[in-house]
Amino acid sequence: MSEISRDVIIVGGGLIGLTTAHALATSGITSHVIDSQDITATVDPLYDGRASAIASASVKMLKLIGLWERLAQSAQPIWEIRVTDSDSPQFIHFDAAHSNESGPNESGPNESGPLGYMMENRQLRAALQGKARESDAITLHAPVHITGLCQSETHASVTLANGTVLKAPLLIAADGRKSWVRDQVGIRTSHWGYGQAAIITTVSHREPHGDIAHERFLPDGPFAILPMLDDAEGRHRSAIVLTVSEATGHAMMALPDRPFQAEIASRFGDFLGPVAVISKRWSWPLGALAAEKLTTGRVVLVGDSAHGIHPIAGQGLNLGFRDVAALAEVLTEGLRLGLDLGDQVLQKRYERWRRPDMMLLLGVTDGLNRLFSNNLAGLARLRQHGMGAVNRLPKLKKFFMNQARGEGERQPKLLRGLNL
Ligand SMILES: Cc1cc2nc3c(=O)[nH]c(=O)nc-3n(C[C@H](O)[C@H](O)[C@H](O)COP(=O)(O)OP(=O)(O)OC[C@H]3O[C@@H](n4cnc5c(N)ncnc54)[C@H](O)[C@@H]3O)c2cc1C
Repeated sequence: MSEISRDVIIVGGGLIGLTTAHALATSGITSHVIDSQDITATVDPLYDGRASAIASASVKMLKLIGLWERLAQSAQPIWEIRVTDSDSPQFIHFDAAHSNESGPNESGPNESGPLGYMMENRQLRAALQGKARESDAITLHAPVHITGLCQSETHASVTLANGTVLKAPLLIAADGRKSWVRDQVGIRTSHWGYGQAAIITTVSHREPHGDIAHERFLPDGPFAILPMLDDAEGRHRSAIVLTVSEATGHAMMALPDRPFQAEIASRFGDFLGPVAVISKRWSWPLGALAAEKLTTGRVVLVGDSAHGIHPIAGQGLNLGFRDVAALAEVLTEGLRLGLDLGDQVLQKRYERWRRPDMMLLLGVTDGLNRLFSNNLAGLARLRQHGMGAVNRLPKLKKFFMNQARGEGERQPKLLRGLNL
């Protein structure tokens, strides 16, 4: 039985696990990345039709860790976000080109560049995997099952199904919502379902989208129209995320193509000309999850293993990217100070840094979903007053713009465009 030592073990080679490996590699921290599935299959267009809105702060990190050069060509900028509530005339308009509406003295210099970018998950995975295969700092093990996990005074270790034992001072769990590692080390979670499903598909339309994302709060749930790059045939495209009740979700997934297309087209409207569904459809059950702690022993949680939020604001992956940036900063400082990477001081710092942001976003997305997936007359009035207030108060609008961008002074260095 062979034993191989590296600085960290990362369980989960998805979007967050591999981003963690690349961020750590910029500081010379080496990793084993283990995934139980064949990750090459996850870049297939039929595997996961999702596209993610990646906030501008996350893009700063992707640039610094050498991924953006592989992604830029497939990234669709978002310059504006328009939020509307059913048939109400009230709407909120976030415009990156005019983000300094409260004046330079009140809100600081204007941010340049788009609010974020749309990126197909499969393209993000392809870039992460391609770079990992070229990196001396990252050893990929996939597909392989882990049969055991141990912790001692000096290290954590995992045994793979082929008998290999991997050891490191720190084990990072990036194995998603149903985290096996989290269960093994006894970290409990609070979790709840929304009784909703997100239906995902891609549409083409005659007119260009103008780099604008739309979030419409319709009577049966939020409907997001997210700009995508034109396809190889030159068709203008948008990604659709339709949130509906579980029962409606089942019914929509069972519809033949033509009535499904009619359901999507009726919600989309004709503002971009005729609309056609051009991809498969997928359905995701929606729920929320919070790990009761983010570290224990020599194990830390990142990404969806630590938190799962409603996709209403398109922030789950961005929240995970913030975990990555914070952990990379904490571990890099520990390395410079000559500390053991599994040192409790480092783990506590990571936990203190990440928990408030995670709980805030969990609460905000949960509240928004309850407010906007409801037809009670009182709530409709509250929504309209709220939208009016955001439009009238430039500072409040700036706050929401910063949330969309993922910006803030307390954010880790990588998200502010600073090297570790
Ligand atoms: C419908 C929908 C739309 C979304 N849209 C957005 C958006 O626009 N913007 C945004 O920021 N976020 C969005 N999100 C959230 C985002 O997709 C997730 O937060 C993100 O994918 C989590 O990545 P992860 O790497 O932590 O977990 P996962 O993607 O779940 O990856 C976990 C990895 O661990 C592996 N694994 C699991 N168990 C084991 C094991 N026992 N051993 C080894 N490996 C294991 C899996 O094979 C997988 O590769 C959306 C989510 C949904 C559902």
